[in-house]
Amino acid sequence: MPNAKAYSAASATSPLASTTISRREPTERDVQIEILFCGICHSDLHSVRNEWSSVMPTVYPVVPGHEIVGRVTKVGSAVTNFKPGDLAGVGCLVDSDQSCPHCHEDLEQLCPNQVLTYNSPDRHLGGVTYGGYSESIVVDEHFVLHVPGNLELAGVAPLLCAGITTYSPIHRWGDIKGKKVGIVGLGGLGHMGVKFARAFGARVVVFTTSPGKKEDALRLGADEVIISTNAEEMKKHAGSFHFILDTIAADHDINAYLGMLSHDGNLTLVGAPETPLAVSAFALLFGRRSLSGSIIGGIKETQEMLDFCGAHNITSDVEVIPIQRVNEAYERLLKSDVKYRFSIDMASLKGE
Ligand code: NAP
Ligand code: ZN
Repeated sequence: MPNAKAYSAASATSPLASTTISRREPTERDVQIEILFCGICHSDLHSVRNEWSSVMPTVYPVVPGHEIVGRVTKVGSAVTNFKPGDLAGVGCLVDSDQSCPHCHEDLEQLCPNQVLTYNSPDRHLGGVTYGGYSESIVVDEHFVLHVPGNLELAGVAPLLCAGITTYSPIHRWGDIKGKKVGIVGLGGLGHMGVKFARAFGARVVVFTTSPGKKEDALRLGADEVIISTNAEEMKKHAGSFHFILDTIAADHDINAYLGMLSHDGNLTLVGAPETPLAVSAFALLFGRRSLSGSIIGGIKETQEMLDFCGAHNITSDVEVIPIQRVNEAYERLLKSDVKYRFSIDMASLKGE
């Protein structure tokens, strides 16, 4: 079995540190990929610190990372869509049963037997799957994405999670052209939400707790920015939004944002705070508002999103870091201090 250099955490309180993991020899359906860049998603941090223990407890050691872009190094004999040398992307999913009604509808992200890129039972090697903070990965061809050749790769990596997670609900909500759409939280997901909502022709308004991000929000495509801690600013916009995407990673007053919706408006949650949110029934009843959730996207839709990004020249705004700075990056993520996604240059693993 080939070994691969990686970074893992040994417990919820341990820093990430250099290690070696096993990857399988490609089976006939597999694609082996040399990882070039891997984004740092806030989900990596939630998982490493076992903040989702009630829903999906972390098995240690954990190798996080599900925003993977790289180059194909080897393919199995039955692989038809990839060849060595091709660019390739891998997101949050590496397998599913491919036989349930969800998989038949190209909604692998809803499959009850899905295998996540890390911290899921590994059907090939036993133990759990290991993610993209590593020099290589081996993935079933069905879960490997084609990467448009015109985009800068460090900024492509985050599209594999932050991109699809925002593209999918914004797209699904229907024709938002000219409609008032709110993006709550300007982090990794939020800044991609702004780019997609803008590309679909919405009037985009960003809610942020960070006044220092105002100029960036406008540059990224927002028409207006609301500092959510300013009650006067919030009041002015009450009842005026068609759709709001909430990307906040921590506990917050969701009723303040539900109150921003116009009648029949929808707020979709993609942020996944550790603790439950308290929802006021009245915030929904008045105005017949709805509250939904959304999780990444299916493989077909992820490819559609990547192709859309290729055609519209959309990538994530990234700060490229060597893997040796990953623990510092996690601390900065907690302070909302990233513009707007960390992307790890995996060449930095070679020296370990
Ligand atoms: P991130 O880069 O840390 O961005 C989150 C943003 O939320 C921050 O930049 C900050 O924006 C805002 N924020 C943070 N703490 C806040 C607080 N206490 N009150 C109000 N606003 C706060 O994280 P991310 O990678 O975008 O991920 C966001 C969330 O989505 C995480 O919970 C992650 O696990 C989840 N996620 C879900 C899916 C899915 O499929 N549903 C996929 C990926 C990630 P401002 O500075 O602008 O206020
Ligand atoms: Zn993610």
